Amino acid sequence: MSQQKLYYGKDIEVMFNSEICTHSGICVKGFPAVFDLSKRPWVNPDAAPAEEIARHIDKCPSGALTYKRLDTENSLKKEE
Ligand code: SF4
Repeated sequence: MSQQKLYYGKDIEVMFNSEICTHSGICVKGFPAVFDLSKRPWVNPDAAPAEEIARHIDKCPSGALTYKRLDTENSLKKEE
């Protein structure tokens, strides 16, 4: 069974795969306004600008956190 969860925000969707999370704590320690284990849901994609959330998710060492930007066309890569 997949352990993938999706958290919908206005400008960004955040995906979390608990099966591959290595519990480094980078997300919760580095950005508690968005990632807070004491809250349900523990991810609040509307608590900060999508750009900041995306930049922080890029630091997740395991790849357990990923995202899809909803506020830009080329959300993952700008190749032009
Ligand atoms: S930063 Fe990534 S690997 Fe570390 S606790 Fe958060 S989701 Fe898990």
